[in-house]
Amino acid sequence: QWGELRQNILRTIGENNFKTWIEPIEFAEMADGVATFNVPTNFIGNYVSQNFGDLILKQLTHAGENVRRIHFQVAAKTPARPSRASAAQPAAQTAPPRDDALPGAPLDPRFTFDTFVVGKPNELANAAARRVAEGGPVTFNPLFLYGGVGLGKTHLMHAIAWELRARRPDLNVLYLSAEQFMYRFVQALRDRKMMDFKELFRSVDVLMVDDVQFIAGKDSTQEEFFHTFNALVDGNKQIIISADRAPGEIKDMEDRIRSRLQCGLVVDLHPTDYELRLGILQSKVEQYRSQYPDLRLSSGVLEFLAHRISTNVRVLEGALTRLFAFASLVGREITMDLTQDCLSDVLRASDRKISVEEIQRRVAEHFNIRLSDMIGPKRVRTLARPRQIAMYLSKQLTSRSLPEIGRRFGGRDHTTVMHGVKRIEELRAQDGQMAEDLELLRRALEA
Ligand code: ADP
Ligand code: MG
Repeated sequence: QWGELRQNILRTIGENNFKTWIEPIEFAEMADGVATFNVPTNFIGNYVSQNFGDLILKQLTHAGENVRRIHFQVAAKTPARPSRASAAQPAAQTAPPRDDALPGAPLDPRFTFDTFVVGKPNELANAAARRVAEGGPVTFNPLFLYGGVGLGKTHLMHAIAWELRARRPDLNVLYLSAEQFMYRFVQALRDRKMMDFKELFRSVDVLMVDDVQFIAGKDSTQEEFFHTFNALVDGNKQIIISADRAPGEIKDMEDRIRSRLQCGLVVDLHPTDYELRLGILQSKVEQYRSQYPDLRLSSGVLEFLAHRISTNVRVLEGALTRLFAFASLVGREITMDLTQDCLSDVLRASDRKISVEEIQRRVAEHFNIRLSDMIGPKRVRTLARPRQIAMYLSKQLTSRSLPEIGRRFGGRDHTTVMHGVKRIEELRAQDGQMAEDLELLRRALEA
């Protein structure tokens, strides 16, 4: 019953609101005209009650329930699957987070360390985030997290905030996006409340600003941000910043700000690799199990998705959500066929993204050789190595088969391609420079 009502609520309030506010609550019981729900924190309960209470009541009444009132009680959620990292070091079994709302942006209850799957591409960022989340003495300031869209920056920042709230309730933690920072700043200017604004921001113990690239080119906001930043650093307060690129690459950012941003610890979230994507998919499937208990999943489907869907985790999650919703509608097992049907557009989009020709052009540019030599017959090492790299990237980033790749390299045999791919795999493992080159090229291609 609640399951069906949830669908109606989802349609009414949209996916974002639904995920943030409705998904974390659970129907508990119905007695004497009172419908009781379990919520993970008072904060969520209050928010849902104020914003969606009437809607839920209406839906229940529509469904023929005799309800006068709905009630929220704080109860531990069905525990989420621990991430790999927390399995290794069971540090933080977080107490229910504090429920008094901070003056910052609301935190997504799903974005915790427990739900963050750790792999090679994000292990450094995860470790740095966990260190800061311990709330010990400030060691690196600021912590600057950067990486492409959908790689988990916001997730990690919320996780830090949740953890700090649980471990150090005495600290004043403020999380907000750079856009919200600007909005508040402009509002304070307009309302002549600059003193309040300054006081608020200078009174925090931990300031977290998400997507700082947003204030690039916005001069007065930058200026104010710089002063806030300096005041907090001077007061030995922790600052955590995220951006979609490295500090040095943010255009229209004042040099003095850029250099300040660089003076702490800068860590990046690399594009996801196959293993991480698979891990994330597996963990999501476990989370879905409670929602769709009867659904069956053919083997190989997750592996297929992990191979074929881009590095952006948000896209990956969206694809899986759609797949599960669709499969539960038609009541079928999730097979490869169903997957390909249901996600044809997503799969085509990630196919179209990178072509072998594009890879050849990029790699040729990177090593300063001619494109014609890339596909030509010469076998000197200065040409053969880049050629092998291009083959390797073609295998990794496109869905072309070895013979198809061979054809695009001047009609080479598929065994030649296979040999090239193997060679680069070996070198990648031994040679840091090679690993770095590959990463750079891959990033450039996927950008
Ligand atoms: P960003 O802020 O970098 O654009 P988000 O933090 O919003 O990305 O992440 C996008 C989505 O992908 C979120 O739903 C987030 O929970 C999920 N996600 C990203 N990385 C991971 C991960 N390592 N484990 C689990 N979920 C992840
Ligand atoms: Mg984000």
